[in-house]
Amino acid sequence: MIDAYAPLGSWYFPTIAFLFGSCIGSFLNVCVSRWPANLSVVKPRSRCPHCGHEITWYENIPLVSWLALRAKCSGCKAPISAVYPLLELTVGLIWVACVLQFGPTFTAIRVAVLASVLLGIMITDATDYVIPDGFTVFGFFFALVAAAVGTMLGETLPFATLYDSIMGACVGAGAIAIVGWLGELALKKEAMGFGDVTLMAMVGAYLGPGRTLLTIFIGAFLGAVGFLAIVYPIAWLRARKSGTEFAPPLVPFGVFLAPAAMIALLWGSRMMNWYAHDMLGL
Ligand SMILES: [Zn+2]
Repeated sequence: MIDAYAPLGSWYFPTIAFLFGSCIGSFLNVCVSRWPANLSVVKPRSRCPHCGHEITWYENIPLVSWLALRAKCSGCKAPISAVYPLLELTVGLIWVACVLQFGPTFTAIRVAVLASVLLGIMITDATDYVIPDGFTVFGFFFALVAAAVGTMLGETLPFATLYDSIMGACVGAGAIAIVGWLGELALKKEAMGFGDVTLMAMVGAYLGPGRTLLTIFIGAFLGAVGFLAIVYPIAWLRARKSGTEFAPPLVPFGVFLAPAAMIALLWGSRMMNWYAHDMLGL
């Protein structure tokens, strides 16, 4: 597969992937800052939050513009956060990694799209406790269409077949709703937002039923560790510092379900085989 492209040089596809991925990262910056506030990502054009200077296309080139502007608005010289180029760089590298791992294939695009969407969900759930429909609805339909296209191209793995994709969406949404329902009974307050249900429907459409349930197990494990090691201590320290009364923070479950879905996609089958063979002796 890759040999056919050899005359283009081994750097060709990774470079294209990086350029394309950094543009996706640039768009992701817009999504994560506007969707939680229920704003459109299409219009208006981005402006400097300090002086209202409209950002031109040449000031909006991923990574390059931030460096060329020396991290300052060209209108008022207010500093531009390094978070923007950092996200562009991260998504660019994710797309490169997918091409290096899967070659210049449709599979590489599917993995990269899922990883980009999940990264966006991690960010908005962490900053605003929101999983925007823009991510999950796009991700869900992309998963179904990609399952059909993948079947036609003979490229299914590591994703679910079209039938498993539909089953997985139902199992994912159902299972997380049950977890949320039981959590609500135990905690006597809302334990799970509807965003988690749509997230798991999307994840299910990529992974199929088995690895979707595995995602919830891994996500719960990561969530428990992350909560005890990071979220809880930070909230406690903040309350102490500001002298306010300490209230246990909410857990943005999507922050943990998103990486769990990537783990389940890439290593889930191996993990389940290992568990069935070596642990249960099946
Ligand atoms: Zn400005």
